[in-house]
Amino acid sequence: MTNVAPTNIAVVGVGKIARDQHLPSIARSSAFTLAAAVSRHGTVDGVDNFADLHTFLKERPDVPAVSLCAPPMPRYDMAVAAIRAGRHVLLEKPPGTTVGEVEALAELARQHGVTLFATWHSRFAPAVEPARQWLSGKTIRHVEIVWKEDVRRWHPGQAWIWEAGGFGVFDPGINALSILTAIVPPVFVTGATLEVPENRKMPIGVDLSMRSLAGFDVDAVFDWRQEGPQTWEIRIDTDAGSLVLADGGSRMSVDGEARPDGLEAEYDGIYERFASLLEAGESDVDIAPLKLVADAFLVGRQVDVAPFHE
Ligand code: NAP
Repeated sequence: MTNVAPTNIAVVGVGKIARDQHLPSIARSSAFTLAAAVSRHGTVDGVDNFADLHTFLKERPDVPAVSLCAPPMPRYDMAVAAIRAGRHVLLEKPPGTTVGEVEALAELARQHGVTLFATWHSRFAPAVEPARQWLSGKTIRHVEIVWKEDVRRWHPGQAWIWEAGGFGVFDPGINALSILTAIVPPVFVTGATLEVPENRKMPIGVDLSMRSLAGFDVDAVFDWRQEGPQTWEIRIDTDAGSLVLADGGSRMSVDGEARPDGLEAEYDGIYERFASLLEAGESDVDIAPLKLVADAFLVGRQVDVAPFHE
């Protein structure tokens, strides 16, 4: 960023991810100043707090940017209100509950001349860009994704995640797909098995098969029943060796040899990118990961599995 005054920003939906990541990253950012928080229950010390987005939009015209950190279901209405009020909008992942609503938001942002940034935080993990560069010019033979974590540990009490539009295990799985779609040629879904607990609406486990026109297949397993060590790994076999991205894109190795680690700063990277988009007057809305999830639901074979209890 050039030497310009920081942009006032409001965080909307003060919950887990806002507190864990957005607020600390905004506090560290030289490009943004937190000016307000909008949440029905949550508050942030030291700034103007609003329980209602429309009141905020009316009373704080001096805040040109909002960061929508609520779950995906209410996000479309929030984004429409903010864009119509002329605000730049940052969307947490996944950017919406359907492909169509995200496309509609992109069009609305274009019509109103504001920036829309559909973020994919995992793309800012330190080894993702080095992996993309290493893969450049190589022939990919096969990709295997293993994304296994403990839902009780990462999403305690989050009832929304099991509801329609909540994504179930695709909530973490889409992070893997966001990395995949950033570093390999386009892929499409060829099959899926969705394991849905008898007492829930969204899958707890997914087996996903994808293929690329470039001539390789991708096998992915997403599982929320993983106790003990957690696994967020992508292995890419190429004509020049095997690349492994481990820990959600934080670490990279080639043929078992570790490459130097970069700094872990996913959300700082998101806010830097948002600042650049504002400065350039551009939007960044990539729905490729969301399309893969939507297609998995289209072709997926649903299997009932044991009820899930917290
Ligand atoms: P959360 O804590 O359950 O929700 C965030 C806040 O959104 C809530 O505290 C609530 O604040 C507001 N909210 C919840 N349901 C709402 C509704 N129906 N209408 C309006 N506001 C609602 O969820 P989270 O874990 O922060 O996740 C939010 C988003 O961030 C998700 O899309 C998730 O995929 C993404 N994300 C989460 C993590 C993580 O580690 N949890 C990591 C990366 C990305 P009020 O009740 O005060 O309004």
